[in-house]
Amino acid sequence: MTSVAVLGSTGSIGQSALEVIAAAPERLQATALTAHANIERLGEQAGQFRPRWLAVSDPAAAAKARDQLGLPAGCQLLIGPDGLEQIVREPSVDVVLTAIVGSAGLRSTLAALEAGKRVALANKETLVVAGPLVMHLASRYGAQLLPVDSEHSAVFQALQSGRRAEVRRIVLTASGGPFRNHSAAELETVTIAQALKHPTWQMGAKITIDSATMMNKALEIIEARWLFDLDADEIEVMVHPQSIVHSFVEFIDGSVVAQMGPPDMKLPIQYALSFPERWPGPAARFDWSRSCQLDFEPADFERFPALALGLEVARSGGTSGAVVNAANEAAVAGFLAGELPFTQIVPTCRRVLEQHDFEAHPSLDRLLALDRWARQEVSRCLCP
Ligand code: NAD
Ligand code: MG
Repeated sequence: MTSVAVLGSTGSIGQSALEVIAAAPERLQATALTAHANIERLGEQAGQFRPRWLAVSDPAAAAKARDQLGLPAGCQLLIGPDGLEQIVREPSVDVVLTAIVGSAGLRSTLAALEAGKRVALANKETLVVAGPLVMHLASRYGAQLLPVDSEHSAVFQALQSGRRAEVRRIVLTASGGPFRNHSAAELETVTIAQALKHPTWQMGAKITIDSATMMNKALEIIEARWLFDLDADEIEVMVHPQSIVHSFVEFIDGSVVAQMGPPDMKLPIQYALSFPERWPGPAARFDWSRSCQLDFEPADFERFPALALGLEVARSGGTSGAVVNAANEAAVAGFLAGELPFTQIVPTCRRVLEQHDFEAHPSLDRLLALDRWARQEVSRCLCP
């Protein structure tokens, strides 16, 4: 029986992870569940999964949780971000699934790696902010870091067809988001509601906006750069509107290996839990009696300037990822609050990146300080 701590269990990935766990009661057990503020959903999940620990990170919600949550027998409620770090260190936790959104997930992911846990990583921002540090901790403490992001899971699966030295490049696929066919002029007038309508995936609001700007693919380029130790030049992006081929690995002999599946995050989540095995599970399946089409087209770097920004950050490393990530989090929040136009999200990130004092080998404290600084810089561009 593998005991899983689901950090961010009330979100889109967190809920899919609990479906995977519920479908394998003989193999998986949810030992800890955490939420930032949605204590209603956390309470329902606690009733169903009867975890040993619950954690609520938002102080106001935590106070409410203490008064209102009827805890199952033997379940302890932990308060504030320290609660997450306590959970990931618990000896009885085998796997930490990090489904928190944004750099808020960084500290608990680092703590899980230091504790030598298997980390099933959905929280891509962690690798964007602190890729070298994350990979160093994983190797130092013998912690396994397995991707949940569908593209990186696909690359991870395809890499098993050859040796590392035989890889020529990887190709991350992108749905292209809701504005794949919008002209530059049409992008100027998109609304929040349009940007929140993703054609193929149901996800949290932040990553849905990232998909619309294609900043999600930029973050994934940076994530892949650190996770697979690739040069930026070994990472390509191809638009594939059906989201069925989740990415490709091209080997030196010209052979290309892809991983496919219907767009359903339950599959990569489960693989990060079951690896090196495969189990039956609740993920969607193809209906082979129906015809189906796969389209691929080059990504448009002019309409989606996030892509070039992602490659630049993957190339420069150092403090760049932390700055662009925090600027993007703040800019997306600004857009969702109606305080920043859609087409200003990426240029704002670039401006903040260019204004910052680059450092090639930053400490964690420096990265955290720049995360705060970049958010403040963006808040000065917002028009409430
Ligand atoms: P979401 O917004 O649906 O859920 C976020 C979760 O994080 C919630 O449980 C919330 O309570 C928690 N949270 C938010 N702020 C927090 C804070 N400050 N401290 C602690 N917890 C906090 O997001 P999501 O779509 O599930 O995405 C989660 C992560 O997975 C993101 O990094 C995203 O990029 C990545 N991811 C998501 C998908 C997807 O299909 N949704 C696919 C690939 C990768
Ligand atoms: Mg992805």
